[in-house]
Amino acid sequence: MSQQIPFYRSFRFRFVFLVVGVQFLFVLVAGIYFIRQQAEAETQKAFASNAGSLKVVSSFVRNGMNAFGENLNLLAVTSAMGSFDPEESGKLLKTYKVSSLFISGERVSLYDNNNKLVSDNIMVGGKKDTSGFNNFWDVEPLHIYMGPTRWAGFSPTRTFGVTVQNPARANGVLVADFSFRRLSSFLNDYRIGSKGFVVLVDGGGAILFHREPRWTKESVPVSQLGFRDFNAKQFKVKDPMFVTLSDSVEYMVNYLWDPGTRIGYLALQPRQEIEAMVSLVRNSMIVLFLSLLIIMTLLSAWISSLLSRPLLLLSEKMLLVKNGNWDVESGIHRTDEIGMLAEIFDTMRESIRKYILELGAHRDRLEIEVANRTDELNKANKVLQLMSRTDDLTGIPNRRDIMEKIRYETYRAQRNNRPIAFLLGDIDKFKSFNDTYGHDCGDGVLRTVAQAMRSMLRKHDYIARWGGEEFLVVLPETDLDGSHIVAERIRAKVESTEYQYGGKTLRVTITIGVAMFDYRLGVERSISLADRALYLGKDNGRNRVEYWDAGQTPQSEYDAAAQEVAINGGNEFDLPTDVLDKLESERQRIDQAENGDSESPRSDSVS
Ligand code: GH3
Ligand code: MG
Ligand code: MG
Repeated sequence: MSQQIPFYRSFRFRFVFLVVGVQFLFVLVAGIYFIRQQAEAETQKAFASNAGSLKVVSSFVRNGMNAFGENLNLLAVTSAMGSFDPEESGKLLKTYKVSSLFISGERVSLYDNNNKLVSDNIMVGGKKDTSGFNNFWDVEPLHIYMGPTRWAGFSPTRTFGVTVQNPARANGVLVADFSFRRLSSFLNDYRIGSKGFVVLVDGGGAILFHREPRWTKESVPVSQLGFRDFNAKQFKVKDPMFVTLSDSVEYMVNYLWDPGTRIGYLALQPRQEIEAMVSLVRNSMIVLFLSLLIIMTLLSAWISSLLSRPLLLLSEKMLLVKNGNWDVESGIHRTDEIGMLAEIFDTMRESIRKYILELGAHRDRLEIEVANRTDELNKANKVLQLMSRTDDLTGIPNRRDIMEKIRYETYRAQRNNRPIAFLLGDIDKFKSFNDTYGHDCGDGVLRTVAQAMRSMLRKHDYIARWGGEEFLVVLPETDLDGSHIVAERIRAKVESTEYQYGGKTLRVTITIGVAMFDYRLGVERSISLADRALYLGKDNGRNRVEYWDAGQTPQSEYDAAAQEVAINGGNEFDLPTDVLDKLESERQRIDQAENGDSESPRSDSVS
């Protein structure tokens, strides 16, 4: 194609660009919004799930503590305990059945109503009160008493106490340490999310359980984990909250306070874990959107090429048509809008071709017509030229006109045996005159000379412009002497005539060659003798009259003329009768008008 559309301006590019661009914007905005929503939702989901986890953990702990207290209750109502007998109760406590209810480090002690230790589950030593229990007045019948947290040994404990009833004697108290180590296997395995964990605190904010045992060997405030101003009984987390703890990890925090067990539960889930879920969603969204984008790009490229390819094809075909190939078919056969366009193209091309053919035929006819007319016109022009007898520039008769008259005069002269003289005049140095003053000036001189020469002629004489600046004068019935007088008169007249041009007075001279008409040579050859005389005059210094001596005419001229007559067979004096009649009556008219004096110069009127 000659006109290439730059790709960026093509329909295909614009269409694809638009579709992909709009899509990209949409995907960008929607994607960002969606991913944000998703991140929010993931966080909320994790937060709610962690809250649920805390409920599970707290109820597990509560159940464990309740079971511990129930076991103590069951132990308290045994007869061995009620006996307050050191031997009997001590024995029971050391049986496998009872000791298996407790884990190592958990002390069980029986006190009498004097708060004196009766027995305990310590296998060796014994009889020495090392439980440190002295909250006897807090232990009430029908209640399980739970003491404050104590750090004795490796982990925190709480002392549970129940009354031991003995109607016969006074009541005593059975106490047992609840070690939080009981919970560690469950709590260690319990995961918040997949990487989060649970921290238990007591009412004073000290850590009861942490997956790292170092935090629970002694009473460590939870603030050391990184919580500031932490109040275990009042701390509340209603919405997802993130805190960076002393391990430099940011956690999402949930909290639950259980007043029954006086334990607070912290759920800590690394933020990274939640974000990993969000980024998983985000990445899959990006992949989804990108593949959508690619599919839409390919689809829009396909759709646009579906449209643009036939259009390009059609414009290529149109270009061929434009270059004059009228037989091109669109070649597109479809039932859609493009098919319609192609069909219109085909019919349009067909009708234009028809018109062009018609136009061509019309043009051919017109050309023939014009040629015919031109022919006719040329013929008419020739006729007109033939009919024209006057020289346009000088206003005197032209060569054609004088030739006709010469024929008539020579015819008459031959019949009457009278002489005719030919005078051929040529302006001297006219070329340099033209060169000096210009062609316009030359034309003016030609007119002046023509008028001057004509003014010197008699009524039956003829003058004509013979060539450029040559004039032929025909003197009928004039012999050599007579012609001498006329020729000299003409030469002198020209010499004395002044011509005004551009404020200057100019003069020219003329050289004249004279020859007598010779029947044997004919008109043309006789005039050519005058021409030879003229050249002699030029050679002899110009501004003079020169005569052709008939004795000088070579024999070869006569022979050539005789041969011409033999070949042509015609008589050059033959003139159509109507022309002869016309010229004859013209002569008579002049004769009557002038009535005599054939020697007087004739008037300026054009014959
Ligand atoms: P000579 O005849 O004396 O030898 O000199 P010349 O300069 O006249 O010689 P030639 O015959 O060669 O030149 C004739 C010149 O006449 C040539 C042409 O420029 C000029 N001439 C012929 N016809 C016309 C015309 O119609 N108008 C004008 N202005 N000049 C003409
Ligand atoms: Mg000349
Ligand atoms: Mg000349």
